[in-house]
Amino acid sequence: MRARALILLGAPGAGKGTQARGLAQHFGIAHISTGDILRHAVSARTPLGLAAQREMEAGHLVPDRIVNGLVRERLAQPDAARGFVLDGFPRTLAQARYLDRLLRAQGWGRPLVLNLRTDEDILRKRMTGRRTCPVCGEIYNIYFNPPQNDAMCDRECAKLIHRADDHEEVVGQRLAAYEAQTKPLIEYYSRRKLLHHIDGNGKPESVARELYSFLRDP
Ligand SMILES: [Zn+2]
Repeated sequence: MRARALILLGAPGAGKGTQARGLAQHFGIAHISTGDILRHAVSARTPLGLAAQREMEAGHLVPDRIVNGLVRERLAQPDAARGFVLDGFPRTLAQARYLDRLLRAQGWGRPLVLNLRTDEDILRKRMTGRRTCPVCGEIYNIYFNPPQNDAMCDRECAKLIHRADDHEEVVGQRLAAYEAQTKPLIEYYSRRKLLHHIDGNGKPESVARELYSFLRDP
């Protein structure tokens, strides 16, 4: 794969973070996750990091101006020169337009946008079925990877935990919010013929195989 700008889109539960990490490793490109950049900028106390921290402490979303600036700084780092996969950016149409200008200015041209398309039923099961061991950190799924004994870790550490974020009602809200937020982005990239759908329903290894073979021959 020649060096290029990749954008990975996918609903909560689609395995976007896992696939982005895998892509970066497989092709030797940078994994650029907005969550990571934000955490790093806050802990390094950079000017944008401090500005982001003020917004978050006030209970606000970090505004586009700050997120865009953080992404611009990150793309300027040497490891991004061999190509990169963006994970968590852009989230809004304004961010997508900014990114277009930035990529053009930096000579990347048009990005390749990969959408992990996953059935809602599977997304729900992946999230609502998740159970975590509070002691060893092992993650189970009551549908796809159940513990041997109902509510206990297989290593007999402790009772498994069902995180508040993974409860049915919260999951429904997160999926609806994602759908509403991402629809304009999907339309934007689709209109410009930059959007490619990848089947996200399978196991992580098979989704990864499909991604890699698509990227070798897009
Ligand atoms: Zn355990």
